Amino acid sequence: MELTLQQISDMPDDSYIYVDVRSEIAYQHGHIANAVYWNGIDNITFPENKRIIVYCTYGENSIPLVGKLKKRGFGAYNLSGGYREWLIHNSEELSDEEVNRYNRQIILPQVGSDGQRKLNNAKVLIIGAGGLGSPAALYLAGAGIGTIGIMDADTVSISNLQRQIIHNTENADQNKAESAKLALQKLNNKITVKAYSYFLTAENAEEIISKYDFIIDAADNFETKFLINDVCVLLKKPFCHAGIMRFEGQVMTYVPEEYPCYRCIFEEIPERGTIPNCSQAGIIGAVAGIIGSIQALEAIKYILGIGELLIGKMFIIDGLSMKTRIAEFAVKNKNCKVCGETPLIKTLSKTPSIQYELRESKKMSLYS
Ligand SMILES: [Zn+2]
Repeated sequence: MELTLQQISDMPDDSYIYVDVRSEIAYQHGHIANAVYWNGIDNITFPENKRIIVYCTYGENSIPLVGKLKKRGFGAYNLSGGYREWLIHNSEELSDEEVNRYNRQIILPQVGSDGQRKLNNAKVLIIGAGGLGSPAALYLAGAGIGTIGIMDADTVSISNLQRQIIHNTENADQNKAESAKLALQKLNNKITVKAYSYFLTAENAEEIISKYDFIIDAADNFETKFLINDVCVLLKKPFCHAGIMRFEGQVMTYVPEEYPCYRCIFEEIPERGTIPNCSQAGIIGAVAGIIGSIQALEAIKYILGIGELLIGKMFIIDGLSMKTRIAEFAVKNKNCKVCGETPLIKTLSKTPSIQYELRESKKMSLYS
């Protein structure tokens, strides 16, 4: 038995309760007002004589529970269209200022005002406020991503400014996450920006990443890239990886769970010194701009649910010849240590064989 939001709005407020069957994290990020989080039939006491309206994200996964509750004698109903439908009807309308600010994307049929609301409600974490993080953060702030987290422990140096365009000469010696936050808030004061002025570590990664909907790997070292991958796979978070060097760049996106992850392709953190870093090999700032912009585009497409993502695919560009190609990785690596058939990495803290040597990370940064 299904109820639409319209039917529910005609019912007296005290005649029903909502039960949320999505994940605990999804519930924490937002739920219908006064909804009860579902953690098992024996753990919830339902008030007598009230209808129980069960909802999931899209209105389908909640149907089996409705059947179960009915068998137990409860007056249970399924919310048609689920939480998404509720969100669309209950988000505040866009203000005139928002419509004006985001007009050029709202007029796109793939975006519209619903899409803009999705962007406004989205939370994106950018790990690294350097060559890749700069353009990614600027475009995401411009697009109205409601909450942007930006993370970097480094300070701005004059030699960064050739490519790290979110910073400026006046911000030399300032923490990069803080400097980026100032720039983003100047660009768009309608969004919330959270600066994390420290590095991602195995200790803090789960707590921070779990708060966001999409992660941008704009890190400049392999240890952080593998750490982002492993945490995102474990937490089932989508992320976009990128790397740049000289005139070349590469991008791929991971979406849980059926597609290959970064570790499926690259397997292990490379040995120190085997791959030159940007300060040794050099980098053209505009290449960082192209690749970081693609990362922002991937995040936007993911949030809007439009287009094709670079999942199972690596986009590669040689900016010197302007040749581009897409390398396909159609299936997961069954030996992958984090998402393979017998994963060794099950939690970050209890896996001594996996070490993310972040303190030394700057010594072998590839992409800066
Ligand atoms: Zn994998």
